[in-house]
Amino acid sequence: MDNVLYIGVDLGRSTRIAMVDTSGNIIRQDRTPTELINGRALVDKLINLVKEMRSSAPLPIAAIGLAVSGLVDYQSQQVKVLPNLPDVSFINIHHELVQAVSLPVIIDNDANAATYGEWRCGAALNLNNIIYIYLGTGIGGGLVLNGQLQHGSRGFAGEFGHMKVGGEPLDCSCGSQGCLETIASGPNIVRRTREQLFIDPCFTESLLAPKMKNRLTCEDIVEAACKGDKFARTILLETADYLGLTIANVVNLLNLELVVLGGPVMAAGEFLLNAIGESATKYCFDPLLADCKIVTGGLGNDAGVIGAAMMAYDVVMAMRQ
Ligand SMILES: [Zn+2]
Repeated sequence: MDNVLYIGVDLGRSTRIAMVDTSGNIIRQDRTPTELINGRALVDKLINLVKEMRSSAPLPIAAIGLAVSGLVDYQSQQVKVLPNLPDVSFINIHHELVQAVSLPVIIDNDANAATYGEWRCGAALNLNNIIYIYLGTGIGGGLVLNGQLQHGSRGFAGEFGHMKVGGEPLDCSCGSQGCLETIASGPNIVRRTREQLFIDPCFTESLLAPKMKNRLTCEDIVEAACKGDKFARTILLETADYLGLTIANVVNLLNLELVVLGGPVMAAGEFLLNAIGESATKYCFDPLLADCKIVTGGLGNDAGVIGAAMMAYDVVMAMRQ
């Protein structure tokens, strides 16, 4: 049973591809820019990457797991929407991959795959009721309830970033307004930082002041906050307040055991984690939060590829039963 490997792919603006053993250990991982010319070229490159990884594997590959940064109809395995990437909705990626490699293939949303990774091999190992939240360019989420990853009726469950948080009703990429993502995603953390320019008295002394004229990134803000920059910390404290509020709503609804936070925004470390915890404490019904810990993920940026590979592993195990 252990003399096979699984391929996990995490497709976003860049493509991570890894061969993973049955315990979730990465044997080899590559990262390459995703082909952005059009959907056909994107899928062709993806299939070639999978074939190349397979041909270089030291053991037979048993199945492929593909995580994509968009909406996947889980029943039909059809990728419906990939925001920020070329349209692939007219291509049956699942069918083409199966044809290309003659192996079982499973496709899911990237946040679901990262959730699966943290649940099967990471911070949420052996727990039954958890949420994973990804904080990056977008905000995604995945839920495990009663020991089962939740897909909802079509596979779109877990859109944590599109929960409504009130405040200024800004337009969101989902077509609605007032979503958490319009406040707490990486680009919106940058937007709020720029809006505070010259308003916050701490600004002139901030490490971010010289960067404001040029390109300012969320990584810059996170890094400044880690160094104790007061201005950057004010922005992230506000971010933490909205995140804690949204987490409290989910914990109140579902009585979770664990909230796992991942993605590049969490590079702010203990400072941000503690601030989110304080905010959740403020908004959550006490007995529910007493049952629930809030932690950062154990697998970092590898959660998606490991989760996708473990989904593939579990598909093969289910086929043998
Ligand atoms: Zn939205």
